[in-house]
Amino acid sequence: MSGLKLRNVRKAFGSIEVIKGVDLDIESKEFVVFVGPSGCGKSTLLRMIAGLEEISGGDLEIGGKRMNDVDPSKRGIAMVFQSYALYPHMTVRENMGFALKFAGVAKDEIARQVDEAARILELGPLMDRFPKQLSGGQRQRVAIGRAIVRHPEVFLFDEPLSNLDAELRVHMRIEIARLHKELQTTIIYVTHDQVEAMTLADKIVVLRDGKISQVGSPLDLYDNPDNLFVAGFIGSPKMNFLNGVVDNADASGVTVRLPDYDNQAVTFPAASNAPAKGATVTLGIRPEHFSETGSAKLSLNIDIIEHLGGESFAYARAGVSDVVTVALRNGRDVKAGQALDARFDPSSALLFNAEGQRVR
Ligand code: ADP
Ligand code: MG
Repeated sequence: MSGLKLRNVRKAFGSIEVIKGVDLDIESKEFVVFVGPSGCGKSTLLRMIAGLEEISGGDLEIGGKRMNDVDPSKRGIAMVFQSYALYPHMTVRENMGFALKFAGVAKDEIARQVDEAARILELGPLMDRFPKQLSGGQRQRVAIGRAIVRHPEVFLFDEPLSNLDAELRVHMRIEIARLHKELQTTIIYVTHDQVEAMTLADKIVVLRDGKISQVGSPLDLYDNPDNLFVAGFIGSPKMNFLNGVVDNADASGVTVRLPDYDNQAVTFPAASNAPAKGATVTLGIRPEHFSETGSAKLSLNIDIIEHLGGESFAYARAGVSDVVTVALRNGRDVKAGQALDARFDPSSALLFNAEGQRVR
């Protein structure tokens, strides 16, 4: 089994640098998700690991060996793409066995590998069908099967579920989690969908503009984002960001005033990197961290309310302030136009400086 090590890995297309020095350790058998907005470099980084894209600078190790110049077929990896172009004139069985046939593997060995992959993916009854006789989810399972028969040490997935409808995406997400349990291999999975990242990953790598913004477990990133970007990217609905001004910062704590919300004061613990008095800051509070108790209060009016059954989301503001999203557990009878005192405990709020870095 193989772990990976990336050291100052860079990629430039001509004079444009798109991967700007990535350092990352991936443990053997770990499920790692690269997540970030479109264009941030996720696919490029994955393709460099696969060997489909040359590495412009830095070092890539897989299983303790430097792989920068090793042929893709010799890296012990297999990749599954978003568009899983199956061969239309081949059956499921032939599609899954093709790479092995191409590599000159003996017929009965191919049959054994393909049957094993079919068992894992529950494709048994579909083996003699052609791709056009399969649903989107079944085709994606065949594409994964093609990768499994090669027994890679590392699976690379690039947005494998993006072409599927919402219900099937959830179903396939669970299948992929199950697959990881059964195969016990290293998986690197690229997605722009933070829910996929949260539900699948042992470790999430948040990429922004060719650089790592933060690495951590899903709940690390949710509870302890290092910066505004990660705070805003992880979690749904999004964390609220309120404009604040530092009123006082000393050994007793950092007191922030919220000018748009009746100058409500919120005190944070003392911080080594606390901005000076008068500095503008951002207070972050998640919709689900409002409650009926708590010493801080935002006096809001509800613009819009969404009732989802189990919970409700109020979109509310104070005068001309930005909209604040508030999750209500007992909100069935709440209506648009009503006043809402959204309270929170200051310990559940996060503080960011003017550069968007966490103050703590
Ligand atoms: P993501 O997968 O996160 O959406 P990509 O890795 O595909 O992003 O792309 C990252 C950046 O690199 C983008 O700005 C993209 O336009 C650029 N890029 C990707 N491939 C090439 C290429 N072959 N030539 C030039 N620029 C490229
Ligand atoms: Mg991509």
